[in-house]
Amino acid sequence: MTADGAPFAFVEAGAFTDVDARFSGDWSALIPARDDPSCHGALDRADLLRADPQALSALWAQSRVLLLDEAGFALADEAGAVFAPLGEQISQGPGGTGAAIFLGLDGERRGWFALDARLTAVEAPGRVDLRTAAAHWSAFHASVYAQARALQHWRSRYRYCNVCAGEIGFERGGWLGRCGQCGQEHYPRTDPAVIVAVTDGERLLLGRQPGWAPRRYSVLAGFVEPGETLEQTVAREVLEESRVRVRACRYLASQPWPFPGQLMLGFIALAHPDPPQVDDELEDARWFTADEVRAASAADSDDGVGLRLSPTISISRWLTDCWLAAMASRSR
Ligand SMILES: [Zn+2]
Repeated sequence: MTADGAPFAFVEAGAFTDVDARFSGDWSALIPARDDPSCHGALDRADLLRADPQALSALWAQSRVLLLDEAGFALADEAGAVFAPLGEQISQGPGGTGAAIFLGLDGERRGWFALDARLTAVEAPGRVDLRTAAAHWSAFHASVYAQARALQHWRSRYRYCNVCAGEIGFERGGWLGRCGQCGQEHYPRTDPAVIVAVTDGERLLLGRQPGWAPRRYSVLAGFVEPGETLEQTVAREVLEESRVRVRACRYLASQPWPFPGQLMLGFIALAHPDPPQVDDELEDARWFTADEVRAASAADSDDGVGLRLSPTISISRWLTDCWLAAMASRSR
C-alpha cells in the first residue's frame, strides 16, 4: 500500500478494500496453515537442468518419452493407455532444434521428455487425444501430456520470429526459442482467461454457445484483455455476454487448459438479479435454480429432457459443484 492509499498505480484506490479488511497482519486469515497439494505439479520441472545439456543427455537413456503426432495426439498402447518408451529405445537425443522437449523429473527422479513422433521409428498401436486422456489416464499422465501438448503447440506456432521473420531455434530443453537472425528470445505463451460461477444469491447464471449439444450449459468465461485486472475481466465479460451486472467476485482455483494454450482462472461472483440478455457470442443465458443444477450434476447420463453440464474434468463443472455445495451448506 503506497502512502496515498492506492495499492497499485494502475488500479483504483480502494479496489482491494475487502482484502484489506480481511488482512490484519495475521497470515492465517488469508492463507490456510496447511500443506496444499494444489501447490505441487505432477513433475518437478527442474528448471536448472534445462540449461545443462550434458545433464539432459545423461538422463535421456532411462527417461520416459511421450510421443506426440502432428495433430497433437499421444501415441498409446492397444488399450489406449499411456505409451512412453525409454529414451534408449528411441534414436533421437534430448534438447536442440526439432528434438525432444524436457518436461521434468518424476518422484523417482526419472526424466520425462516429449518428442515429435515423426522423429522416431518407434511405432505404437494406438493414439489418444488430450480430452480422452484427461478422462481416462491417471492425473499424473494426463498432466504430463497436457504440458507436452502445450509446448508442442507453442513451438509449432512460433517457428518464425515475430520481430524480423527469421527462423527460430530452440534451446533450454525446448523451453526457449531464439531467433537465428536478430537473437530475439521467445518464451512459451499462456493466455489467461477467467471462468466464473455467477450467482444472484439464489440462482446460478449459465450460458450456452451455438453448436453445443442440446440443453448443454456452462458457467461464463472470457479472455483477459491488456491492462485489466482479473476482477475487471470477470465483471466485463459477464456484462458483455449476459448484460448481468457483477457486484463482487473472488478467485477460487485455476486449471491449465491446453486447447491450445490457456490458463482458466476460476472465480465465483455475486451479481444483481438482472434478466440475462445475449447477443452473438452466446446463444442463450439463463438463471438456473439449485434444484435444476443439482439434478443435472447428479445425472450420470443425458435424460433427454433436463439441463446438461460440462464434463467432470473441467473447472467449469468444478465451479458449478462448488456453488451447489455452498447452497447446500447454507440451507442446512
Ligand atoms: Zn528475429
